[in-house]
Amino acid sequence: LKSFVRDVVKDLKPYKPNMEPCKIKLDANESPFDIPQEIKQRIWERVKKEKFNFYYDPNCTELRELLSKYTNINLENIFVGSGADEIICDIVFAFAGPGRDVIIPVPAFESYEVYSTISGANIIKIPLLPKDSLTPWELDVEKIQSCFRQDKPQLLFITYPNNPTGNYFGEERILELIDNFNGIVVVDEAYYEFGGKTFADRLVEYPHIIVIRTFSKAFSMASARVGYALGHEDVIKQLYKVKLPYNVSLFSQIACIEILKESIGWVEEQTNKIIESRTELRKELDKISGMHVYPSYTNFLLADFEKSRDIVYEELLKRGILTKRFYGFGLDTTLRFAVGSPEQNKILINAFKEIMG
Ligand code: PMP
Repeated sequence: LKSFVRDVVKDLKPYKPNMEPCKIKLDANESPFDIPQEIKQRIWERVKKEKFNFYYDPNCTELRELLSKYTNINLENIFVGSGADEIICDIVFAFAGPGRDVIIPVPAFESYEVYSTISGANIIKIPLLPKDSLTPWELDVEKIQSCFRQDKPQLLFITYPNNPTGNYFGEERILELIDNFNGIVVVDEAYYEFGGKTFADRLVEYPHIIVIRTFSKAFSMASARVGYALGHEDVIKQLYKVKLPYNVSLFSQIACIEILKESIGWVEEQTNKIIESRTELRKELDKISGMHVYPSYTNFLLADFEKSRDIVYEELLKRGILTKRFYGFGLDTTLRFAVGSPEQNKILINAFKEIMG
């Protein structure tokens, strides 16, 4: 079997979500607020009227129409996928591959590297500026630009705001990169609703950027697996060529349609609650000696510890709280955790107080 497997797949490790039983799950940046029963009921009422034996709309037309209103972007500039993850995969399919470079400022969301590796592309990882520098976790524009090649197309990933560091990179820095880049720049805005800044209004000016968003975070819809891309029509056309035929199920499309149609107010309320809790949680945790919490424009926080973060991680786990560890790039002393419900945040604050002594 070993000889059958492609070289790029041999050394890959399967994505292993942490399914350890826990009382408070904060490791995957999910929303603590489930969709209320009345909205679920409405989704089900509509689903139940549809025919399950036929493939559902492969172009997600109704969903795209509603997204067009939500984003103020034309229908033909919107592409829907099974999670932002699938869209990242489609972008790599269409624009990367053997002999091409993919530039990833790191630390970043892991999928960029995984799919690019599978595609056979050459991956160039450029570390962000160090966390103890004057501009912590910022893009190293000079180093990134030193990898730019005008003689061949490349792919560049920018996460805005970034995961796992939680910050926005400077707009001017990103614009400088976009201006000088010969290829597609992906601006991943998975956490857009928690910070409000976007590059979507620059699509006309910069036809070579693709903005990615998701229903998994602010929309409380991680289980539905729906994400979308915003881009120039010609770019979107390429994504249609590589996408799987019926990639977004009837259930997922209708769930997102109903939320966008009737319950956007509910989404905004929950988002505001999370933003308020994020400020409060950071303020409280920053008072605890031995830990520092970085500013965040997302639904999660990144904390840095003076004592072993692995001990802190295990101690939290003993109390039923699951967080996430990262390795390298200055992250070995940190933990990332989602902002929870007000009750969960109280438990988390008390746990940190106890553990940090
Ligand atoms: N981009 C970023 C930056 C993310 O953090 C995530 C999920 N954690 C995704 C994309 C993937 O989102 P989805 O659930 O829509 O696949």
